[in-house]
This record gives sequence, C-alpha cells and structure tokens, in this order.
Amino acid sequence: MNTEIQNIYKELGISDKVYQFSAEILDGLSERFKEIDKNAEYNQLKVVKAMQDSRVSEACLLGTTGYGYNDLGRDTLEAVYASIFHTEDALVRPQITCGTHALALALMSNLRPGDELLSPVGKPYDTLEEVIGIRPSKGSLAEYGITYAQVDLLENGVFDYENIKRAINENTRLVTIQRSKGYQTRPTLSVRRIGELISFIKRIKPDVICMVDNCYGEFVERLEPSDVGADMVVGSLIKNPGGGLAPIGGYIAGKREYVENAAYRLTAPGLGREVGASLGILKDLYQGIFLAPTVTAAALKGAIFAANAYERLGFRVVPDGSESRHDIIQAVELGSPEGVVAFCRGIQSAAPVDSFVAPEPWDMPGYDSKVIMAAGAFVSGSSIELSADGPIKPPYAVYFQGGLTFEHARFGIMKSLQSLADAGIVSF
Ligand SMILES: *Cc1c(COP(=O)(O)O)cnc(C)c1O
Repeated sequence: MNTEIQNIYKELGISDKVYQFSAEILDGLSERFKEIDKNAEYNQLKVVKAMQDSRVSEACLLGTTGYGYNDLGRDTLEAVYASIFHTEDALVRPQITCGTHALALALMSNLRPGDELLSPVGKPYDTLEEVIGIRPSKGSLAEYGITYAQVDLLENGVFDYENIKRAINENTRLVTIQRSKGYQTRPTLSVRRIGELISFIKRIKPDVICMVDNCYGEFVERLEPSDVGADMVVGSLIKNPGGGLAPIGGYIAGKREYVENAAYRLTAPGLGREVGASLGILKDLYQGIFLAPTVTAAALKGAIFAANAYERLGFRVVPDGSESRHDIIQAVELGSPEGVVAFCRGIQSAAPVDSFVAPEPWDMPGYDSKVIMAAGAFVSGSSIELSADGPIKPPYAVYFQGGLTFEHARFGIMKSLQSLADAGIVSF
C-alpha cells in the first residue's frame, strides 16, 4: 500500500518491523491530533490578532545597531508579546541569552536583600539551583542575601497547601512556579492548576509576585499562566515561542513595574529598555512567533506519538499515552545508561544537521551529573527542534522534545526505536 513511503524509510535505516509498529501506534491517535489542531487554530489566530492590533509593519522587520534607540521593530515586538500574553508589558530581547538568563533576570531585578523567594512546586530546574544558590555559585541570589524556601509537591503531584501557607512569611516577596516538569518525572502543571495555586497564594499574601517559568508551555493550551493571575511569565525563544526561527533570545511578560525592573537590570539603571539594538534578527523573531502555534502543535503530536510507542513497549512514560498535555516534553524512563545513550543516538541520527555524529555524555555547566544531548539543529541547542537529552543518573530517563514538523518528530522517534532495537534493548 504505502510501499513508496516504506521504501524511503528503509533507505533511512528504518526496518519494516519498526515501520509497522509505528504505523499501528499512529492509527490510534487521530482523535487526539484533531484536538491539538483546534488549539493550534485558536492560538494562530491569537498571534495574528496581536500582530494586527500592534500594527506590525514592514519597517518593524528591520533592525538597529549600536545603542538601538528608537528601535520600532523591537518595541512593537514587545507589544505583540504583551498582547499575546494579555500582560501590561513585555521585554523580548536577543540580549537575554537563554531561558536561565531570562529567569535569573526576572528574579534578580525584582528581589532585594532580605527578601525571600519561594518555590511551592518542589525543586526548580537544574540551572536555577545555581541562580538561587541552592548549589553555591558566584553571583547567586544567596550571595546577595536573598533567602530561598521550597515546598515539595505531595505524592502524585498534588500541592501541599498546608505547608505552602506555613512557608509564606513577611519576607516572602516572589513565588516561582515552574510549569514544565524539567528534568523530573512529576506531572507538568496545567494552566488551570497554576491559576488555583496563584489564587491560594494571593489570598494569603496579595502583594507577593507570582512568576511562572513558562519554558516549553507556550501555546500548548489556549490560556497562558498570565491569563490566570501570574504577574510574570518567563521563557526562552529557542523553545516554543521562537517557532524554530529565533536564533537567540528570551522574554519576560507581565506587570509593567516588574518588566521595567528587569529592563533596568538587563542594561543599566537609567537606561532600561531604551537601549539594546535588535541587530538583524527581528524578521526571524516575528516570523518565529507567527509560526509558534503550529510548530508547538507538531512537537506536541511528536510527544504523544513517543509516549504511546514507548508505553506499548513497556517503559514508564511521563505523561502517559492518554493523559492531557501541558508542555511539549516527553519523559521516557529507559532504566539504564545504555538505553539513554541509544535513544539519544537514534534522535541524533534523524537530524537534518550533524546526523552523522554520535553524542556522548558530558559535564555540562549548570547540571549536577553528566548529561547526554542529541540535537542536530539549525539553531544550536534549540529544543523546539527535534532533540533529546538525559542526565546519566537514575531513573535513566530521557526527555524528548520538539520537531519543527510532525513528520520529522515521527521520524526521530522511529530512529530512536530502531537504535534501541539495534542495541538489543527492545525487540519488535
Ligand atoms: C529549558 C528550561 C529552562 C532553562 O532554559 P535554558 O534556555 O536552557 O537556559 C528553565 N526552566 C525550564 C522548565 C526549562 O525547560
């Protein structure tokens, strides 16, 4: 029937058995995919409306150099982000180098010595440990006399309301809520649950700043955390909102005061957002946010396909094959270092760039164990593109994400299945 397609898969190293297996998995997913397409439609229109309402013009696609005063494109792009997230303001800059930088900036600019930061959802993302000073680090919040409190999630991912209430004190200034699971196997938080948590916290202390680490969550649902009470949402442009085209950057969208604080910290007191040349990348940032809803949908379909394939093979997957989705990350617990390496090598071999290299575990800055990363991306390190990574520590889980098209995400997963089969870890 599909021999032509099957043949080209074969040329790319996919056996008939892996092809058949994945075709069966895919057959069961059409209803789920329809729902994702509906969300993509809604979010596509939300983005177009934001662009039209902000009067994006051809001139906005050009950039500035030097100080970057009066950069129309940069300022309009920030208005577009504020409109999408329904916030008073936004800072969207190539000078924000990555997601960790965006989060560090939001924290360092809005916290002062003596303030306390609270995470009511357990341990934050690995790189944040050094920002906060959980692991001692130069320039951490701890070095500036900013303390940190944490309340872990209860078993099965439920908020520990009692201890959250107890942890909020007169010094608590900012609450950080991580939407995505990061390198953990807890459930990702839905926007609705984030809203419930924020309401609870604001009832106890109305003036506390609620910040959401929105990495990997953008456009997965119709609402964003800023629609349910978050004062700031923060993320990376080489994940969902960059649509695969943004070559660098981060964003902070939220209340004007908090965004302004971040701008003064990013550049210098007195200068703030007035400086910061956009160079030549604005067209990519605009086109990226325009494509982001459908690119995110493709990545989401890839994640669901991966969950169902690996679940069928008997591995624990988070989320499971039928759960509702709140980010684009798929965790697969492979249970051994060899499994993690084989999976990542399979993903790498599906890449459009650097498909011929074999990734190795290494001591990546900011992480407390060796990490292996598969990424043959157009934008280095971009994880909205087909990518996978896994820390080499129990439970030996890999985190798979991305794929700018579903066809490519599907191929990547098929290559990972083939790689595990070739290593003798699974059989079909
Ligand atoms: C990716 C990520 C970050 C950090 O982003 P980088 O761009 O890698 O610095 C922070 N939090 C979460 C939940 C992430 O997924």
